[in-house]
Amino acid sequence: ALRYVDEFRDGGLAAKILLRLKKTVHGLEPMHFMEICGTHTVAVFRSGLRDMLPEAVRLVSGPGCPVCVTADEDIDRAIWFARRPEVIVTSFGDLLRVPGSESSLLEERSRGADVRMVYASYEAVKIAQDHPDREVVFIGIGFETTAPTVAAAIRQAAAQGIDNFSVFSVHKLLPPVMRALLDSDSLRLDGFLCPGHVTTVIGARAYEEVARGYGMPCVVTGFEPLDILQGLSMLVDQKRSGRHDVEIQYRRGVTWEGNPAAQKLLEEIFEPADAAWRGLGSIPGSGLAIRSAYADYDAARRFSIPEIRVRENPACRCGDVLRGVIRPPECPLFRKVCRPQTPKGPCMVSSEGTCGAYYRYTS
Ligand code: SF4
Repeated sequence: ALRYVDEFRDGGLAAKILLRLKKTVHGLEPMHFMEICGTHTVAVFRSGLRDMLPEAVRLVSGPGCPVCVTADEDIDRAIWFARRPEVIVTSFGDLLRVPGSESSLLEERSRGADVRMVYASYEAVKIAQDHPDREVVFIGIGFETTAPTVAAAIRQAAAQGIDNFSVFSVHKLLPPVMRALLDSDSLRLDGFLCPGHVTTVIGARAYEEVARGYGMPCVVTGFEPLDILQGLSMLVDQKRSGRHDVEIQYRRGVTWEGNPAAQKLLEEIFEPADAAWRGLGSIPGSGLAIRSAYADYDAARRFSIPEIRVRENPACRCGDVLRGVIRPPECPLFRKVCRPQTPKGPCMVSSEGTCGAYYRYTS
């Protein structure tokens, strides 16, 4: 296992793993492995790994970029909050730039809405404390890594009796979307590179159903180029020997059980709920709703959000990119009208988006 930070940047070791990988797959049919998570996508591009891999090892980007998978209707709901004069909308930076049906949160801000970027959810609680006469709505996005921090913010607000803070939860869960991808037959996959950081919370056992039930190799992998190389090599070995197990490459951060304190916090504040994903539709049990015990902190219950009629941009192919069905250059807008400065879809907006990564790291 790769245990010491120095080794991660060891070009000699990388070359050895690559050579072995090349020999192992020589003459084999191409294998398609999905890096589910946007952090992996960016790491793969930044390191140039994609171009070094043998022809038979192909990486497919998946739906693990929280900004990208946020459905149009949820962006429009966030904008509905921003248009209410009593509301201060808070969220993480990238989400503010995602275009909804008519505008983005940033455009709403330029028209006078009170929209504030925060780096952590507790900052939104602080804003609520500082503005007792306003309603502060935090748009909660992110997977199992981020959701516990938002749960902690809700618990903090409840403990301190802060009654003008609420969360609009569009959090998502990773294992249910992996199952949904495998249930749709549009994709040919031979294994998953599972993200180290999400798995530190949920534990590697969370992928057992995917591995056993779908016969799909899963390797929990860190984010250094060498981690990814080793993870891919473990996937290839599983595939060649006909195994479909959950394995942990990222042993320095991940256990089978995960982080019980974070899980307990999630369990206390949230419950699994159906959630709408961009490009994938509604997936049962793939989101997190705020439990009724904390209903006062649930923006979806605190406000009567009207029915939203979404007008999707028909030219943006983000949905297909997120399902791994097309690569960004196959979108007719890519590089032409859709660029990081003028994004037409969230996959270009987000720092973890596949279109943004292609734009920055390929020519
Ligand atoms: Fe959407 Fe732009 Fe990506 Fe095309 S290049 S799929 S328009 S984000």
